[in-house]
Amino acid sequence: VSEPSSPRIATSPRRKVAELYLFDTCTLKCGYCWLAESGNVLDQSQLDQFRDLSQIGKISSFFLSRTTPDAKWLLLLTGGEPLIAPNLDRLLAPLHEAGNSTGYYTALMVGSNHPGFRFLLEHPYPQTDYVMASLHPESEADENRYFEKIRRLKDAGHRVFLRYVAHPRRLHRLDELSERCREMDVAFYPTTLLSNRYPGEYTLEERARLSGHFSSLSQHVQLAGGLDTTNLLCHAGSRIIAIHLQTGNITPCITVHRPSLGNIYEDRLELAGAPASCPEPGIDCVCDVHFQQDIVVGAEDGQPFEQLCRGYEPPRRHAGELEGMQRKGLAFYPRSKIGVGGVANDQRLFYSIEEVRENYRATRKLPRTSLHRSGIREVAGSIGVIEICDARARIESAAPPTRIVTPSQQWSWGASAPLSIPEDIDGEIWLRIRAATLTGEGAFGILNRSEPSFQDRCFIKAGAPHSTFFLRVSNAREASRLVIENSGQDGRPAEILLEAVTIIVAAA
Ligand code: SF4
Ligand code: SF4
Repeated sequence: VSEPSSPRIATSPRRKVAELYLFDTCTLKCGYCWLAESGNVLDQSQLDQFRDLSQIGKISSFFLSRTTPDAKWLLLLTGGEPLIAPNLDRLLAPLHEAGNSTGYYTALMVGSNHPGFRFLLEHPYPQTDYVMASLHPESEADENRYFEKIRRLKDAGHRVFLRYVAHPRRLHRLDELSERCREMDVAFYPTTLLSNRYPGEYTLEERARLSGHFSSLSQHVQLAGGLDTTNLLCHAGSRIIAIHLQTGNITPCITVHRPSLGNIYEDRLELAGAPASCPEPGIDCVCDVHFQQDIVVGAEDGQPFEQLCRGYEPPRRHAGELEGMQRKGLAFYPRSKIGVGGVANDQRLFYSIEEVRENYRATRKLPRTSLHRSGIREVAGSIGVIEICDARARIESAAPPTRIVTPSQQWSWGASAPLSIPEDIDGEIWLRIRAATLTGEGAFGILNRSEPSFQDRCFIKAGAPHSTFFLRVSNAREASRLVIENSGQDGRPAEILLEAVTIIVAAA
């Protein structure tokens, strides 16, 4: 482990902050995380950017060309799990060398010998400003490994936080974890659950219990639901920027989507010169980084945060600061009473790998190519003759195998077959389809009778390895037709060979 080696690192306020969103890919499957809920944590293709050394070079030279002896960057890496980024050392070592610093939002759930963890261990403070290390539900199953890594980071000279998402089913651990952090002299940082229902649904007792462990203003602001951005003035776009590294797009902060200030891969950046009104009035400013880095005028939390970086801090109510903010006209986000996060189902602490795989498949409309069910039987009849849907489409032979050529526009229908599925079937009902897309991309969907939506649908590209797949009939009475469409974006027709469609029932 090397000693801290860069005395040139600048401290705020001259340091600019860049929030770097690397990718959705992650080693965990937290129940309160949209990336797990959508299955995106499994998207390994998002790592490809970092395997490309020319892309790595563009990212580092973007910052190096904007680093001067008295103007440095603090790069805050988040995702997903940033430690699994390929070539993390090649990306960050030159930036550290030039006096810039980094911070990490990580779950530390990579092996002790993983290159990402080794790099972190070898670059403590001041090269690494802080490590926000979340203890997530899956890590609790082998908590000693997590705490061993925290200890090693602390011993190496890192400024470490134990971040803990305060799902109501996790509140019982607050006292014990706080005590453990105090013993290790590590900042204890419980955070508010942000979901479709929370923070609105915390009871008064839960709120008191949680806020009793807060030591920074940011934590209290998050529990209050964040700040309404209407009339909010901030330094986003001047002292902080956010960069989505999958696209390179640069925005004023990680919460807002506009305006675009440039693109890292095109080496373009137009910084604002002064604080300005939030570009998206009426939304929720809830990211704690923006308070910790003194970005939001009137909600500065830099000094308490810096204190926390140094180690364990006892809880503080910050009542005076919260009242002062309201006196200055800052308002909490009104919709926080019903929840502010993007997670639709916050009941779970974590998902199984099978559930996340299924979410990944469903989000991308990939075909379900296996059905792990018992007692499967076929239902005769119930599927009518295949019919052409559009004068620009072609079908050859109504009897299988049927060759279908769709129109060239995306979402145009090529053919369909009526369904009349008995309503009294006991068990799960599925369509088993044997088909291949010969050119382009074909979509297969079960259309509802009373509204133009699909009960289940999947997209199959030409050359897909599997030719048998399954669509779920969730409502037999409503299922009106099997529709075959063109889902390709390239303006070409999709050509599909449909061999067989069978209704099957699996034991309930
Ligand atoms: S560690 Fe959990 S919360 Fe963080 S990105 Fe991964 S799944 Fe989401
Ligand atoms: S007010 Fe908050 S959400 Fe709006 S730009 Fe500033 S930091 Fe971002």
